[in-house]
Amino acid sequence: MRAAVFHAPGTVVLEDRPIPAVGPGDLLIRVQAASVCGTDLRIFNYGHFKLAPGAHRVQGHETAGEIVATGDEVTGYAVGDRVSVTPNVGCGRCPMCLRGLNNMCPDYEAFGVSLDGGFAEYLLVPAFAVQRGNVFHLPAGLDYTQAALVEPFSCCLRGVRSVGIGPQDDVLVVGAGPIGAFTVMLARLAGARRIIVANRSRGRLAQLAGYGADTLIEVGDRDLVEAVKAETGGRGVDVAITAASSAQVQADAVQLLATHGRLNFFAGLSGRGGPPTVAIDTNRVHYQGLTLTGTTGSSNADYADALQIVGQGRVDLSGLLTRTFSVEDIHEAFAYAASGAGMKAGIAFGTDPSARAADLEQAGVPA
Ligand SMILES: [Zn+2]
Ligand SMILES: [Zn+2]
Repeated sequence: MRAAVFHAPGTVVLEDRPIPAVGPGDLLIRVQAASVCGTDLRIFNYGHFKLAPGAHRVQGHETAGEIVATGDEVTGYAVGDRVSVTPNVGCGRCPMCLRGLNNMCPDYEAFGVSLDGGFAEYLLVPAFAVQRGNVFHLPAGLDYTQAALVEPFSCCLRGVRSVGIGPQDDVLVVGAGPIGAFTVMLARLAGARRIIVANRSRGRLAQLAGYGADTLIEVGDRDLVEAVKAETGGRGVDVAITAASSAQVQADAVQLLATHGRLNFFAGLSGRGGPPTVAIDTNRVHYQGLTLTGTTGSSNADYADALQIVGQGRVDLSGLLTRTFSVEDIHEAFAYAASGAGMKAGIAFGTDPSARAADLEQAGVPA
């Protein structure tokens, strides 16, 4: 099978690998849709603390497909089932896992990081990930493309939940990439009174109107705080979500909240030598009664809810996949995802079914 494999920072190699062997508790999935995440790009550029130097890893964690083999001890899943897989597998025992927060487990394993991921024709889900509930049956009628996109969407659901949006809220989303778009959809679904999207450049901004944004602010050289204050008659916004990796945006976001405003730091900061420390106006937090939250990833419970929202057709994620690349063109796919030219990049395999059947037979998977 073909797989896009991380070798070292800056090096991802298209390999021809054997189809993984299926153990008694494992599932083997034929990947039908996969999409590129900012995390994939970060691993490609900088590596990952869970990846020892020299370790090779199949990248990708936004993925959906069809089960083609199940181990003898597997129950609840069958060959032919349409499924998606959540990336972070918790240890199952720590205080975070016991609260259902597998995304906060300090001893997590993750597809595309410490386990081989979805940028391959076949994805092996090891027994412990099956048992921890990381494999989800897709709602009938939900296509694989949207199913792969549910993962980042579920992370946005977690972010939105942390600030509790309602019909009385003016909401600001900073950043007009896929995360900004998903967040706008969720704010709309939550009944926000008004949704403002601010972005440094025009680029992706115009697309956000189609997902429910009321007001688009091209920040350019303007001051973000001034621009938002001007739009809100000086009041500021009830909720702000930062979906742009910028220290300045994080500091500004504290300044543009209305009294009792809530802020979610969705995007993290990165950089060689470690992320910067950001100075924020804590007196504003104190005297205006602000709430600051941070979220990362999503729990399996968030994911289940997100899958239901998408499966019921309450939002349509498919427009966010703006270009699909063959796995052979993984470098182009990464460059496209990093360029900000479109939204999400998809990875496709496109092997003809008879070749796949031969591959599987060779791997000892019964047809
Ligand atoms: Zn992702
Ligand atoms: Zn744990």
